Amino acid sequence: MKSKILPFVLQNRLKFGSVNPKAVLGLVLRNNPELKKDVPSVLKEIEIVVFETKDLSKEEMTKQLQDLNPDLLHEKKKEVKGPLKPLKNAEKGKVVVRIAPSPSGALHIGHAYGAALNAMYANMYNGKFIVRIEDTNPENIYDKAYDLIPQDGKWISNDNVSQVVVQSDRLGMYYDYAEKLVGQGNAYVCTCNPDTFREMKAKGEACPCRELGKEEQHLRYAKMFNGYVEGEAVLRLKTDIKHKNPAMRDFALMRINEHIHPKTGKEQRVWPLMILAVAIDDHDLGVTHVLNGKDHTDNAKKETMIMDCFSWTHPEYQHWGRINFEGMKISSSETRLKIEQQEYTGWDDIRLPFLPALKRRGYYAAAIRKWAAEIGLSLTDKTVSKDEFWKHINAFNKEIIDPIANRYFVVIDPVQIEVNGAPEKKVEMNLHDDFEDRGTRSLQGMKDLYISNDDKEKLEEGKLHRLIDYCNFTVENGQFRFVSANYEEYKNADNKGKIIHWLPVGELVDVEVVLEDHSVMKGYGEPALNDVEEGTIVQLERMYFAKLDTKNETLVFWYLHT
Ligand SMILES: [Zn+2]
Repeated sequence: MKSKILPFVLQNRLKFGSVNPKAVLGLVLRNNPELKKDVPSVLKEIEIVVFETKDLSKEEMTKQLQDLNPDLLHEKKKEVKGPLKPLKNAEKGKVVVRIAPSPSGALHIGHAYGAALNAMYANMYNGKFIVRIEDTNPENIYDKAYDLIPQDGKWISNDNVSQVVVQSDRLGMYYDYAEKLVGQGNAYVCTCNPDTFREMKAKGEACPCRELGKEEQHLRYAKMFNGYVEGEAVLRLKTDIKHKNPAMRDFALMRINEHIHPKTGKEQRVWPLMILAVAIDDHDLGVTHVLNGKDHTDNAKKETMIMDCFSWTHPEYQHWGRINFEGMKISSSETRLKIEQQEYTGWDDIRLPFLPALKRRGYYAAAIRKWAAEIGLSLTDKTVSKDEFWKHINAFNKEIIDPIANRYFVVIDPVQIEVNGAPEKKVEMNLHDDFEDRGTRSLQGMKDLYISNDDKEKLEEGKLHRLIDYCNFTVENGQFRFVSANYEEYKNADNKGKIIHWLPVGELVDVEVVLEDHSVMKGYGEPALNDVEEGTIVQLERMYFAKLDTKNETLVFWYLHT
């Protein structure tokens, strides 16, 4: 039995300098379940071993353990594995994070960074990822965002949203806690003229409302709902009126706003301010880690001040630096306006850096997550240029789609040519050269072909060119002439020219490709494209990856990336 105990005793001594026999018992039993039958004698034996090892030097213990069980010597702390740095005070299974956008539109790439980080942390710790729509400001609410945001959250998190919460559904709870704050003497209803209050606050002086008795406060609180009008009264938290940061002095928690809210209509006119609703929600939803931009630093301080009034545990706050997306139009309000004016076709317009567009184009959320992980959770401000952003996202996306996407020929801006002497021949090509088991596609080789006008203009006379997988040819005085079928001959030719894709004149499919700038290219595609389903990503050979967006008489592809 001793041999089963000694290694753990040594490990304990080396790690902590002393030994807790009960802790050793746990380790011994876990590794030797058969000993569970007689726990008292195991414990007794442990105590003996503990006594016997008490005078060993560190070197002796290390040497013995090295012989007995070197793994215990090098045992690493249990680390949570993931693409991100571990979170402070995070425990597996207990992490709850959230994103909290206001309903102003779909999520853009800036939101996506934060949403991806939160979702990845939830995943890394087997925790929860909550999507919370913060709509307690009845002005500027965009109705469609109630559907768009949960969809985007679902996409970016790989369908791992634990809960969708809408704040305007929870007003009753905010009122209850607000009333408690009044009852506890932590909050008061201030009816001062806003300018007067601001002046007093700047001087560190309390306004007269602050010292009114509780009864009067309760009356005033009730009047917020049925007496005062907009602008007449606000609920304030009693903080330190001389706080070194003036923003922290008796800040507002709740106000009256007569705007009609699309969800609650005229029914509600008293609205919690963001910090109050956030403090209550983070507590109520059990949020353990608040990961958001550093523009929320002051808010976090205010939120914890509210939480302290109820003796609630604070979440861990970790902020990231500002990301400036240079040259990218990520304003929700502007985009919304342009959609309403039909300048854009919708949030999924190919030109937009919003998630519905990225998704429709064929980007994988995993590529966005990888990009977000690469930036990581850092406080440094950074500028991401448009080119840089797409370069990264495209590279990450290509890693994912390159093995998936089958290859096809599409000839844009086609011109017909005649290759004199070209043999009639069926040409079989792999759908994907790396995955031959996916099968083949075939094209009828013949003298009458289409090639793209762009290729045609670049074919130099006197050189040996090749039509992919079909034959070699030359151009002489504008005439195309068949030379041979042999690829080696082309490859080894001194006057090697271009290798281009082609289509036979005959039964082809009409193809359109929508480019990033929303312009449309037209051409023909090979017949095998008829078997491709809508939503499939393909590689148009020698061109780029594209997604089959709609399939009617014409196949409409959306450009993805090269
Ligand atoms: Zn006042």
